[in-house]
Amino acid sequence: MAVTAREPDYRIPLANSRSVLDRTRDGARRLIDLVLPQRCAACGTPGTGHGLCGACWSGVDFIAAPVCQRLGTPFPYDPGEAVTSPAAIADPPDFGRARAVARYDGPARALVRSLKFQDRMELAGLMAGLMVRSGQELLETCDVVVPIPLHRRRLFGRRFNQAAALAGRIAGLAGCDYQPMAVQRVKSTRHQVGLSAAERRRNVAGAFRVAVEARPLVEGRRVVLVDDVLTTGATANACARACLRAGAAGVDVLVFARVAAPV
Ligand SMILES: [Zn+2]
Repeated sequence: MAVTAREPDYRIPLANSRSVLDRTRDGARRLIDLVLPQRCAACGTPGTGHGLCGACWSGVDFIAAPVCQRLGTPFPYDPGEAVTSPAAIADPPDFGRARAVARYDGPARALVRSLKFQDRMELAGLMAGLMVRSGQELLETCDVVVPIPLHRRRLFGRRFNQAAALAGRIAGLAGCDYQPMAVQRVKSTRHQVGLSAAERRRNVAGAFRVAVEARPLVEGRRVVLVDDVLTTGATANACARACLRAGAAGVDVLVFARVAAPV
């Protein structure tokens, strides 16, 4: 396992577009984080050091084998061998396989939200480590790790892409090539929350592309797409299709948490 010597900084420095108040607030929060030991991302207990306190860790709904070979959804019983779920047979995804660390619920949801909205970058290393373990099968056959990109407009609003923060670390831990610019988000899609599965598909249709000059980054290679959360898979499917159109040999999806899907 190759580990990168220095963590790259995925935050986007913005000189003029943020208010003084914003910057002062960020500065104050960083100072507090320096002085006080890290708080549990879910319940706020100080001095946890590992993202969550012991009680919240025990509340994480980890996804363990046996899972559907395609969707990575857990089976309520052990089917005995590698099996594809009826859901994956009825509506096969465009990506090959998906794997997740936990269900998007309770403390796992708090971890995702703390990374995304509170700038808790130290959580990215911890979450990436867990993702490498859950995605072992995918990473064994992986040539290149690519984060599911945000549209430029949303990137500026949030200052960093949490998927890239995870993907860079995962590539480093697994010893895979890391290409954060391989796929572009060319359409600013509205939030998927509250949309039906069909609406989500329409919403992300044509949202991603691999630029001609980026084609060699994915052509003939096995891609692992990384994101923080998998909901219906519409976004992951659209991104996978863009990679496949650019000639990728295969596309798998590795996320930290997935919204529980009925089996
Ligand atoms: Zn806690």
